[in-house]
Amino acid sequence: MENGKEMSSALRKLPGIDTLLQTETASRLIGPAGQQHLTGLARLVTDSIRDELTEAIKSGESLDEYSSENLLREAEYRLKEAWRQEERTSLQRVINASGVIIHTNLGRAPLSEEARNAAVDKASRYCNLEYNIDSGKRGKRGARAEHLLAEITGAEGALIVNNCAAACVLVLTALAKGGESIISRGELVEIGGDFRVPDVMEQSGTKLVEVGTTNKTKASDYERAITEETRLITRVHPSNYRIVGFTAKPTVRDLAEVAHRNGLLLYEDAGSGAITDMSEYGLADEPIIGNSIKAGADVVTFSGDKLIGGVQAGLIVGKGEVIARIRKNPLYRALRVSKLVYAILESTFESFRRGNAYSELPVLQMLSISKRDLKEKTVAFSHRLRKRIGENSQLIFEIGEGNSVVGGGSAPAVQPRTTLLALKHPRLSASEIASKLRHSKPAVICRVFDDRVALDLRTVLPDEQDLLINALAGLGA
Ligand SMILES: *Cc1c(COP(=O)(O)O)cnc(C)c1O
Repeated sequence: MENGKEMSSALRKLPGIDTLLQTETASRLIGPAGQQHLTGLARLVTDSIRDELTEAIKSGESLDEYSSENLLREAEYRLKEAWRQEERTSLQRVINASGVIIHTNLGRAPLSEEARNAAVDKASRYCNLEYNIDSGKRGKRGARAEHLLAEITGAEGALIVNNCAAACVLVLTALAKGGESIISRGELVEIGGDFRVPDVMEQSGTKLVEVGTTNKTKASDYERAITEETRLITRVHPSNYRIVGFTAKPTVRDLAEVAHRNGLLLYEDAGSGAITDMSEYGLADEPIIGNSIKAGADVVTFSGDKLIGGVQAGLIVGKGEVIARIRKNPLYRALRVSKLVYAILESTFESFRRGNAYSELPVLQMLSISKRDLKEKTVAFSHRLRKRIGENSQLIFEIGEGNSVVGGGSAPAVQPRTTLLALKHPRLSASEIASKLRHSKPAVICRVFDDRVALDLRTVLPDEQDLLINALAGLGA
């Protein structure tokens, strides 16, 4: 039983959970993690070391080199790492140096300073969410945000729900459940991982009637498909997808005429939704919400956190009586948004109403910054970086050209020209640099190509430049 004796003497050196919990490492973690959770982590750590020692003995290894002290140190290290790893999965700010403006994985639109303050100052305590200050009685939830939304889109009414997917389900359910909805074959698209137009229609209880072909659909195709059961003509902006070449589709005005001539409603899911004409920035084929309303669409839906530059929300605008019908559907209660969302949207819509959206909302600033300004900004940044890391640093960086990406399922064919800062390091591969940057605080997200790391300052907010310089300096001499 030589082996058994060895085992018990080595395992006796293993620190107990109590010893581990009395270390300085553990006492620092007890505040954030809490006694009970930290005890659980300590148990996992000591169990894992015990299992490894047992395995080592079984395979005949000598355990003489292990002392109680170094086993305790190892346990402390693992405890700290276990907590760090857990912390990394928790929500945290990141610096987006990828150049993808509406980056869905990074939370889409960054908020304007005013919108951020509105959430904290106006809505994070008690607020008049459903309370009329003048009368002291119950008020209408979201009234101001809806009013502003209707105003900036020229619509009679507006309604706000959790996201654009929810808006689609709600509109289709309220207006077309139990009936038929006509849609072009060119618009049966998938947007993002889980939003598929045919599935959304099925979920909403409306029968999908396909017309036309993938590349060409005419107004008369819709008209021919109308039956007693038809409720809605539906048009979906194929946000992240383009059919080019031999193509045709009717205008919103044509479709509205067909719908109204037959006593039907026209619904457009515009997706990103531009409030103003964005063709100057390459976004010529994003539907402009106000134009769709003017052309006769009865209801239009779009996202609150794509080109609007606000927060996750589904924005519904349209004719007053149609919006009222949608609001009455019981599903609305399940899809409504919180006071924080209303506060952010009020602020965002006000930027549009003041005519300052392009100077106040980060998404629109990023889209509209000129090539020259971006280059100047990047050059100035590179000078500051050089000053910080010194002439002898091994970090090599140079300014080059490339493309940014709009992202968020908007304008897939548009890639604004941009200035890039390319990084290299003699001892680190590009993916090692990228990993180090991801693990700095705050995490920096960049792009890697041609074994180079590229930083695109277009998507780095002005007050993040110092943090980015710190992260780059941390790559080591
Ligand atoms: C992005 C998009 C959606 C989904 O919007 P979410 O706000 O992410 O739910 C729906 N329809 C279209 C056309 C879109 O572009």
